[in-house]
Amino acid sequence: MREDTEEGLQLKHTLGLRLGLGVRMQGIRPELLLALMILLDLCRETSTIVIVTAILNGAHMRNSLHYTGAAVDFVIDLAVERVPWVTELRDRLGVTYDVLDEGDHIHIEYQPHFGAGT
Ligand SMILES: [Zn+2]
Repeated sequence: MREDTEEGLQLKHTLGLRLGLGVRMQGIRPELLLALMILLDLCRETSTIVIVTAILNGAHMRNSLHYTGAAVDFVIDLAVERVPWVTELRDRLGVTYDVLDEGDHIHIEYQPHFGAGT
């Protein structure tokens, strides 16, 4: 049907990474930009829609890394199998990032754990 075709086309054009309205990104850390590139890669491979909802904007905990441009919140397509998807993202980002599934959104922060060994 014509409607289905148009919907399919529309969906195709929304796949990938998008910025939600009101996302403030002035002062974003380059380390976080790298995380967004890795996130985009995963989006494309899994045909997922990801919408960034907060970087520096929004209300967060007092010492939140959002305020230093080192954290991002986003929402993902509900059709995605969430747990393995988040696990895959966490594996790709490695130990210098924390990935937290907050239920209504997913949070990534650049949080290097400097310590023993180096
Ligand atoms: Zn957050």
